[in-house]
Amino acid sequence: MTKDTNESPVWEGKLFSGGWRAGSGDPVTVTAPGTDRLLGTVAGATPADLDQAVETARVAQRAWAAAPYAVRAAVMLKAAALLEADPARLAEILVAESGSGQGKSGFEVGLVVSELQESAALASHPSGEILRSVKPRLSLARRVPLGVVGVIAPFNFPAILAMRSVAPALALGNAVVLKPDPRTSVSGGLALAALLEEAGLPEGVLHVLPGGGELGAALVAHPRVPCISFTGSTAAGRKIGEAAAPLLKRIHLELGGNNAMLVLPDADVQAAASVAAWGSFLHQGQICMTTGRHLVHRSIADAYVAALAEKATHLPVGDPIDPTNALGPLIDERQRDHVHTIVTDTVAKGATLAAGGEYDGLYYRPTVLTDVAPDSPAWTEEIFGPVAPVQVYDDIDEAIDVINASEYGLSVSILTGNPHAAFELCDRIDSGAVHINDATVDDEAVAPFGGAKASGAGGRFGGPHANLDTFTETQWVTVQSDIERYPF
Ligand code: NAD
Repeated sequence: MTKDTNESPVWEGKLFSGGWRAGSGDPVTVTAPGTDRLLGTVAGATPADLDQAVETARVAQRAWAAAPYAVRAAVMLKAAALLEADPARLAEILVAESGSGQGKSGFEVGLVVSELQESAALASHPSGEILRSVKPRLSLARRVPLGVVGVIAPFNFPAILAMRSVAPALALGNAVVLKPDPRTSVSGGLALAALLEEAGLPEGVLHVLPGGGELGAALVAHPRVPCISFTGSTAAGRKIGEAAAPLLKRIHLELGGNNAMLVLPDADVQAAASVAAWGSFLHQGQICMTTGRHLVHRSIADAYVAALAEKATHLPVGDPIDPTNALGPLIDERQRDHVHTIVTDTVAKGATLAAGGEYDGLYYRPTVLTDVAPDSPAWTEEIFGPVAPVQVYDDIDEAIDVINASEYGLSVSILTGNPHAAFELCDRIDSGAVHINDATVDDEAVAPFGGAKASGAGGRFGGPHANLDTFTETQWVTVQSDIERYPF
């Protein structure tokens, strides 16, 4: 492995906690998946670093929450402006460290900018309501910060999945301790800290501690962290739920998915194949909202599979530093082997490979599977790879049952020539999101985002109502002129 730059970035050898400093854990190497280029090293954190971070954050939070809202809004706006002026500061590390294609990294940076802008607006949003009371008094419900919010984020869209918790939590007057995935310590944490620091965030309000699942578990268990915002796998989310329940802390879990795309017989087949390829192959399928199940009406299924397989066969896959490559590498060998095992086991159960099913290092070819048995792993499990399993249906009621049979409920797409009729199907679909005539992969900073069933529990992200519910506590306050008189 060779290091490809002589300049030391601010995060080199450091973590972010009361400024840039060394950690007490083992160093974490930052590498580029697919090429193994060494990008640098960051400091690993231990539970001792966590204790220190939480104590510093508790003190800093009080002054941060007491500052006028305009101070918090200004930091968010400045960070958004800095990133808009120089998107490469984040986009380049997203490409290198997380294997993001250039289109995906640009899209992700845009999401981070709008998350910061919406969080600036959140800081000035009304923070409660005046209540009616049976007594002559002022009675109000007001939103107060939670204190120190723990954020645990995954590797796949590391910057936005961290920032969608960090920015609203900070804007509402909380301090934050962020633990990114160790494979994306920079793009999912330290690069965001550098941006917010440059935008004027006071020292001690945000801490970024690189480390693995054990450090995440210590954050969940920390008695002075009253709220955890977790994005990651359903398996880890269940463990966090179990650990947090006896501690009676507030947890928000955004978890896995196995998202269905329903293609009705009146859909335009070529347009549907494009939505399908985007939904299943973007970022190598490593998205919670990836289309994992294609349910296609029999009358158009052959044409649909042919069009999708054609796209899969010709999509360029390789080092994402080359902008002509649409897809980059999977994050690591473990994930690659997981994807390939699911594909080969599904073929062994009778499925047909219409495209792909092969790899070179971490570069997995976009794959289309047909004749997929309903009990095969490619149909029942979240793959997190560029794989499009297709099943044919005849009857819409049967198709809705198949969609709802999954344990997950994150995002569903319906493609049709009659969107108003499709709207009526929304009532029958158990899913946090339904997109008619668009992909399962969709996100906006102003829309409430979150999963049903095994895809999530707790609060939603996005928009002032969801973020206020998620990152504040409600306090009932009454005020009256005279001391109330009681019978005894
Ligand atoms: P993961 O659950 O293994 O890891 C996610 C994060 O949790 C990492 O920072 C990891 O270090 C930490 N972690 C792991 N075990 C933990 C524990 N016991 N306690 C505390 N922290 C722990 O997830 P992954 O497999 O690396 O990421 C992909 C998964 O994330 C997929 O299932 C995907 O669907 C899901 N995801 C969900 C959303 C969403 O918004 N619903 C978004 C992106 C990814």
